[in-house]
Amino acid sequence: MTYRPAIVSGQRVRPNGPATHVDAAVLATGEVLPGDLFVDASGRGARTAGWLSAAGGPLLPSVTSECGLLYYSRHYRVREQHPMPRPVSLLGGPRGDLGYLAFAVFLGDNRTFCLCIMAAPWDKPFRSLREPAAYQRAAALLPGLAPWLEVAEPISPVLPMGQLRNTLHRVVGATGPLVTGLMPIGDARCHTNPTFAFGASLSLWHAVRLADLADRASDHTDLAMSFDAEIAADATARFDAVSAEDADRARLWSGQPMDVTDAEASMPLFLRFVAYRVAAGDPELLRAVARRIDGLDPVERLPALPHLLDRARTLYAQSVATFPEVPPRTTLLAALTG
Ligand SMILES: Cc1cc2nc3c(=O)[nH]c(=O)nc-3n(C[C@H](O)[C@H](O)[C@H](O)COP(=O)(O)OP(=O)(O)OC[C@H]3O[C@@H](n4cnc5c(N)ncnc54)[C@H](O)[C@@H]3O)c2cc1C
Repeated sequence: MTYRPAIVSGQRVRPNGPATHVDAAVLATGEVLPGDLFVDASGRGARTAGWLSAAGGPLLPSVTSECGLLYYSRHYRVREQHPMPRPVSLLGGPRGDLGYLAFAVFLGDNRTFCLCIMAAPWDKPFRSLREPAAYQRAAALLPGLAPWLEVAEPISPVLPMGQLRNTLHRVVGATGPLVTGLMPIGDARCHTNPTFAFGASLSLWHAVRLADLADRASDHTDLAMSFDAEIAADATARFDAVSAEDADRARLWSGQPMDVTDAEASMPLFLRFVAYRVAAGDPELLRAVARRIDGLDPVERLPALPHLLDRARTLYAQSVATFPEVPPRTTLLAALTG
């Protein structure tokens, strides 16, 4: 096998019955690289759909929805003389949704962690989060964060990330594949809001399944159809679930009255605010939540288990009084301006 780093800037196509077949990649140097199968793993900024139509191929149908979040991430390292703070959530670090802003701590290696603070793109005063001192002051007020920040030092600037959209591309139409010889996988096929942490597992799963099916497929059409049969329904369900939660969170953060403890009003917010939050109090609920978050179960499984939703309601009612206080929006904004 030859590994050749290069920038791809287009593709060459030819007809394959009713489909379009990609038979070469065009590199940024102008070199045309023929091949049997092209795997598009170029991530959420994938441009292959545009290249395909520019080369005379079909316009691949795709659906998008706004994530409605600007990310402000900063990496920290826990100082040598301090033990790591104790885990407080399934992913280890504190996380939460304040009803106008969300945050999450992701654990790294070598005593590092990353704090992501997420604000709505339309909530412009929170854009001061890009300023390190303002970020630090606001971070210290987030529920559960103080013990982490007290023992750690920043090892990166504040890293803003925006323009986040959930995107789902389709490569098979009603009568068969629209394109053959080109297989978009991972984020290039389906990109979802990083908060849900589906992307890496799905990308690896796509890659493994594609390698397996490519070994057995009788031709390019068979491969396109069999890969689609394995991954398309799951990708669509995840895209829909993430889009639904993003839409409901945008309504909540815009000030629309919503009872997040009412699964009838919003199942996505009920799961996020209630079921995920209290899951550690019940082994069966914890397992179901972990399997949903980790991509092991179909996303629709947990919402279809009423006995676990009931248990979540009960646990929530028992523990809500002990939840840390949420800083009001005005307090966090005041901290930003110092
Ligand atoms: C802040 C953040 C937090 C996340 N947290 C999690 C998490 O906790 N768990 C989880 O599962 N997922 C998480 N994700 C999502 C996860 O990172 C992605 O879903 C995953 O990396 C997608 O893998 P991929 O291989 O499809 O694409 P990528 O990892 O994006 O790789 C694409 C590669 O293609 C290259 N490339 C692009 N264009 C070209 C070109 N024209 N020519 C040549 N090369 C090109 C890029 O340089 C890149 O190396 C997170 C994402 C972000 C942004």
